[in-house]
Amino acid sequence: MSKKVVVLGGGFAGLSSAIYLALQGHEVRLLEQLGHLGGKASEVREAGYRFDTGPSVFTLPEVFEDLFLQAGKSCPVEYEAVDPLCRYFYPDGFVWDVSKDDETTTAQLDAQDARAYLQLKQEAKKLYEGAAQTFLFKQAPSLSELMRYGLTSGLGAHPTKTLPQLLDSFGASERLKTFFLRFATYFGADPYKAPAVLHNIAWVELGLGVYYPKGGVYALVKALEALAESLGVIVQTRQKVEKLVRVGNRVTQVETSSGSVQADVVVSGLDLVRTHQLLGQQEWGRRLEPSLSGLVLLLGLNSPQKDLAHHNISFSADYVAEFEAIEKGKLSPEATIYLSSSSKANPADAPQGSENCFVMVNAPAISKSSKRFSREAYMRYGEDILQVLKNRGFDLVEAIDMKHFVPPSHLQLLATDGSIYGTAPHSLLSTIRPKQHVKGISNLVLAGGTVHPGGGIPLSLLSGKHAASLVQKML
Ligand SMILES: Cc1cc2nc3c(=O)[nH]c(=O)nc-3n(C[C@H](O)[C@H](O)[C@H](O)COP(=O)(O)OP(=O)(O)OC[C@H]3O[C@@H](n4cnc5c(N)ncnc54)[C@H](O)[C@@H]3O)c2cc1C
Repeated sequence: MSKKVVVLGGGFAGLSSAIYLALQGHEVRLLEQLGHLGGKASEVREAGYRFDTGPSVFTLPEVFEDLFLQAGKSCPVEYEAVDPLCRYFYPDGFVWDVSKDDETTTAQLDAQDARAYLQLKQEAKKLYEGAAQTFLFKQAPSLSELMRYGLTSGLGAHPTKTLPQLLDSFGASERLKTFFLRFATYFGADPYKAPAVLHNIAWVELGLGVYYPKGGVYALVKALEALAESLGVIVQTRQKVEKLVRVGNRVTQVETSSGSVQADVVVSGLDLVRTHQLLGQQEWGRRLEPSLSGLVLLLGLNSPQKDLAHHNISFSADYVAEFEAIEKGKLSPEATIYLSSSSKANPADAPQGSENCFVMVNAPAISKSSKRFSREAYMRYGEDILQVLKNRGFDLVEAIDMKHFVPPSHLQLLATDGSIYGTAPHSLLSTIRPKQHVKGISNLVLAGGTVHPGGGIPLSLLSGKHAASLVQKML
């Protein structure tokens, strides 16, 4: 029977759940606070440059395609494999192009590192394949499913080890260790506190590949928006949800900045803490450790950076010290810096002869910061990062045409505490993301990067899909 479903938030998770719910025949209304959809995946166009402001690494494209497949349509977004997957710059001058092809990747390493790389890649595959069906592609596992996983794959997932201990046990050199540690940050973890099972993330990029959607990541958002509307979803932007009105164990009304909407079922694609706050539970989550935040710089450069690939990482000289600083709530002066130039794949993203450059460094979540950093302090830190890049041989400053800062305080609009991935996955249990419901409320389902199965484009889309299945079960 068709129900009135109100979806909160127009990020990947909100859009995905709205589409799957419309396909089930429900009357779906999506409410988004901003003037555009996409949430963390946004776009800036300025002075002839185009930037994706959030995600730039697109993986598991079949998850995106599934939405169109289920709607009986062909996927309107073309994408191509990115090769190398990423170029790594080490402080000792070593530059490593990592690609899906093992031969090309290992040919740049000495024999010992080459062997350890292949073994660790294989280990990541084993961990991913052992966990994916239980933890990603289905609804949050029940106790019996967890026990089944424990018996079949769990023991092989090194439950007593941390990620650094796992890498040490494979004899990884410092160079290789830093490389493999970094993937845990894709889940918002401090790699030194991450459990070994998070090593599975490396397989997604190294084994399954990274893709670039033609037109940029924002093209994915636009395609989903068009699909949702074609299926009858009513999309309302500039609708800030201010309260979820609860009667007994049900949410009956969604109050927004401009009125009130009645709902049979509510799917919240907002982050977990915010959803609880809208229910009046202001203190919820206060004691939970937040995941990493980040500081982003968008640079328009009037000359192409020939040394850079599409995706690049410039490692700090001391990865341990970098995360110790973040743990203490500091903005690390010696940061690992991610640089991505989508104009290398899509020249239309920059004026002729120019290049766009997305720069990102990890930062502590706002509540973990040792002091309240002002916007100016974050901007000064952004300038410091440009200086660090210069010291490492990337002199971007002279080429800057335009510059934008996106500090953690701005991310706060989308993510409580500026924390991109919700709670920090620093124990085996906390890698299992929170379930998609709120205790005591029968018609509210959660979706998004802070709940099951987790953050990132494909997982947020899957979260929306699982939310729609939960609604179907509920009715
Ligand atoms: C800088 C950055 C880089 C990233 N890089 C990558 C990457 O390379 N690859 C990758 O896969 N992932 C990456 N991610 C993570 C990825 O972007 C997120 O996990 C994913 O987009 C989350 O989608 P979501 O729908 O759960 O949440 P969001 O995108 O946050 O969507 C939530 C929506 O709810 C809206 N909202 C919030 N409060 C209200 C309210 N009260 N009323 C109405 N609407 C409201 C927000 O405006 C927003 O549109 C990155 C994230 C950031 C920030």
